[in-house]
Amino acid sequence: MRANDVLQVGPLRAGPGERIDGYLPAGELADGTPIRIPISLINGARPGKTLYLQAVSDGDELNGLAVAREVLRRIDPAALTGRLIVVPITNVPAFHAHQHTNPLDGKKLNRCFPGKRNGSSSERIAYVLFQQAVVRADLCLDLHQGSVRPMIDEVRVRVGKEGPLYRECMELARVFGIGYVLDERGPRGQLARAAPARTTPGWRPLRSCTPPHHAGSHRAPHLPRPDPPRAAAAPRPPA
Ligand SMILES: [Zn+2]
Repeated sequence: MRANDVLQVGPLRAGPGERIDGYLPAGELADGTPIRIPISLINGARPGKTLYLQAVSDGDELNGLAVAREVLRRIDPAALTGRLIVVPITNVPAFHAHQHTNPLDGKKLNRCFPGKRNGSSSERIAYVLFQQAVVRADLCLDLHQGSVRPMIDEVRVRVGKEGPLYRECMELARVFGIGYVLDERGPRGQLARAAPARTTPGWRPLRSCTPPHHAGSHRAPHLPRPDPPRAAAAPRPPA
């Protein structure tokens, strides 16, 4: 079997069987201090699909951070088929401010994808992640939670029935085996809506959804058993 290719995201490069930890520059604070987004690349020894996994898009939703760290702890690059791109803290300004939205522009990051090169802080973070990392992936998972509000276990497919790769996104949602799939087109700017829509020539097909997540979840690293979806019926905080 042939070896995997080098995985490159921004300035970071991981060869076959390697893991690289680093940062992506994404704008700056008002005093010029650079904002850096932590990112890890795990390039498996053997070629396969690339999964992009991000957490803490909303700065007060921290369970996904524990899931991302557990994924990074468990995955051995030498034993991996395929590649992982993990962003444990996506919304760095909101995370440090202990709040949902980015304090630098007041925006919700998950309404800013695919971002703007010269936009506000949230738009720049979305642009850097989308252009440098998301487009390298075949599959895209965005971890959210109910925060202080109630939320059932559900996976959200936000591309909409008319969207490209709708069926593929639904299949990705089903492999979590949770049983509840929210199948509803999301608002503009959501990563799970923006990513699968970028399927014009030159862009790789990309399936994307927002899966359930709990601290210490055993499901995130394995993507196991298919399960037929049921309709979700519970209060829905914005993802
Ligand atoms: Zn959220």
